[in-house]
Amino acid sequence: MTLSALDRPIQFVKGVGPVRAEHLGRLGLLTARDLLYHVPRRYDDASTIVPIESLKVGGEANVVGTVRSCGVIPTRSGLRIFQAVLEDASGMITCSWPGQPWLERRVREGDRLLVTGPVKFFHGRQIQPREFTVVARGGEGDEDPSRTSGTIFPTYPAGEKVPQWILRRILSKNLDRLLQEVAREEYLDDAELERLGLPSLPSALKQLHRPDAMEEVETGRRRLAWDELFFLQLIQAKVRHRNTVEEPGIAFSRTNELLRPLHDSLPFRLTEAQTRVLKEIMDDMTSPRRMNRLLQGDVGSGKTVVALFAMLLAVEGGRQAALMAPTEILAEQHARTLEELLDPLGVSTVLLTGRLSSGERRQRLEDLESGRVELVVGTHALIQEEVRFAHLGLVVVDEQHRFGVRQRMALTEGSPRPDILIMSATPIPRSMALALYGDLDLSILDQRPPGRKAVRTVIHPTSQRDRVYRLVEGELEKGRQAYVIYPQVEESGDTELRAATEEHERLAREVFPHRRLGLVHGQLPSEEKDRVMRAFLDGEVDVLVATTVVEVGIDVPNATVMVVEHPERFGLSQLHQLRGRVGRGAEESWCVLVSNPGEEARERLRVFRESDDGFEVARADLRIRGQGDLFGDQQHGRDPTLRFADLGRDDDLLVEAQRLARAVVDRDPELELPEHDRIRHLLTTRHAERMELWKVG
Ligand code: ADP
Ligand code: MG
Repeated sequence: MTLSALDRPIQFVKGVGPVRAEHLGRLGLLTARDLLYHVPRRYDDASTIVPIESLKVGGEANVVGTVRSCGVIPTRSGLRIFQAVLEDASGMITCSWPGQPWLERRVREGDRLLVTGPVKFFHGRQIQPREFTVVARGGEGDEDPSRTSGTIFPTYPAGEKVPQWILRRILSKNLDRLLQEVAREEYLDDAELERLGLPSLPSALKQLHRPDAMEEVETGRRRLAWDELFFLQLIQAKVRHRNTVEEPGIAFSRTNELLRPLHDSLPFRLTEAQTRVLKEIMDDMTSPRRMNRLLQGDVGSGKTVVALFAMLLAVEGGRQAALMAPTEILAEQHARTLEELLDPLGVSTVLLTGRLSSGERRQRLEDLESGRVELVVGTHALIQEEVRFAHLGLVVVDEQHRFGVRQRMALTEGSPRPDILIMSATPIPRSMALALYGDLDLSILDQRPPGRKAVRTVIHPTSQRDRVYRLVEGELEKGRQAYVIYPQVEESGDTELRAATEEHERLAREVFPHRRLGLVHGQLPSEEKDRVMRAFLDGEVDVLVATTVVEVGIDVPNATVMVVEHPERFGLSQLHQLRGRVGRGAEESWCVLVSNPGEEARERLRVFRESDDGFEVARADLRIRGQGDLFGDQQHGRDPTLRFADLGRDDDLLVEAQRLARAVVDRDPELELPEHDRIRHLLTTRHAERMELWKVG
């Protein structure tokens, strides 16, 4: 397939020369395609555009009219006013811009203007525009099709050197041609379009540039969103194919020799969600495909037990399994949990961390290499260093949300490569998970074991901080421990913002002089951080003052209060993570937000207070804050550039996009079939950069 005319430099588009091409370039429009995809940022239709005749003094005007006369009027006070008389089919009105005489150079007789602003009385009705755009230049013939084809006026993102009317003129001259070109890139057939309820590519773009009705704008957007999501999923499907099919996998054989005793020895019954997820995992593991699965579950949903079953399946199948934790402390906690449950079954576990003596370490490495030991728990160092396994079959990554490891996992040596199960305690909405982790298969633990006490969440204004401290003191008196969290380490120019370091001093001196306080934050050397965390874990510190470093990796059942200062600074999912640090024991626990929130923050915090379901909290966060921030939190060189797709709304599209992308790749991994010509072409041209990010192609 030849290079599409759409990829020609914008300079060669009708009505654009070298100079204008440069100006357009500054708006990011470099090719004809960029122009075609430069869609309006706003639309005004009959429901918002008012006939001039019906404008009322004291009301708001949003009108489109032609300039009948204009000029600068001097006043006695020396103020120079630019005025224009605007006419539409219903009547005329004066628009007045005091102190802006230079508009004389921008607006001409015959121009069509879209004007917004209050209607005042001054020698008759007058609009004082807050905003206006020249939608068509007069005297050149009005080629603007929107004038005849309906009453919807699109407004494009424009610039100083490329005003609205120029963009509109260039588009009106070229749109039909460009739409014909883009029709050649349609890769969905009519039946598929029908099934997905989407318009063809040219209709979608036409709907966005020249909608006949407002609903068309949304229909057009959905189609472009589909393209973004489909190609993202296609790339992820290729990664998935490479990692699960092209890699020789292990078909574990299940004997129940260990699974049965584990099941019988558990002091509880698995929840339905655990049973379902476990089946998904076991199906993967017993199939010859290599498992690459993400297990998502809220704090306390029982992921560890699920992981344990998976590990024992590997062991009964004659392989080793490794569990990786993000911190040494967490690795140690995992190791203890596993030992308790596994000692009775006669399965041996070792812990591999940086705290071992070199002799111990050597011994354990030998045990792993010889296969004497079947299970190992450690930090990421497990897969990075010179650790050699006799026959590693499964790696479980308790990764929380640090997904950087995924790339490294792809490099794991050995053949066959081990199955991978990634556990995340950061619930995110399904659409977000599909978009970010489309290369993985997804299991969701959406149910918590019975009997857990909910954490009580309260919001106190800063004026009631004393009350908060009394609550903390009350818990400390009962022998419990507390966290106090700040959004930053040191005080900055923003003096309103309380910071961990200063507050630690103040709390130690003024509020809890008789208590033992500890301080951890990300800027401490890791040994110091580790030392303080351990002291807290061992009950030698009563109050841990910290930044969000405690978000992951510490489990202290005796801690019953979590105080968060400036909670409005955190995302809701992050707050939920923090809240998950308490309520881990049998006692009633508290999460106290100290804040005088603004309007928007108040709504978010209220949502948070009312729900202790991480998935619900994450959906609310997505709805209120938008996807930008959420993606921002976990970019890691990912591809967050979804311009048209809206994960809050396009859940259904994502599911379909993933299904179709996987079906295409499973049948034709290299996209060699003639029917995939267009898809392959688009993938390797338009999406080459994204492919690069994912290291496929
Ligand atoms: P997560 O890792 O998802 O935060 P854990 O696996 O640590 O959760 O489990 C939290 C607690 O719940 C542990 O004490 C665990 O033993 C317990 N637990 C797990 N599954 C069940 C269940 N089905 N019924 C009762 N308690 C359970
Ligand atoms: Mg856990």
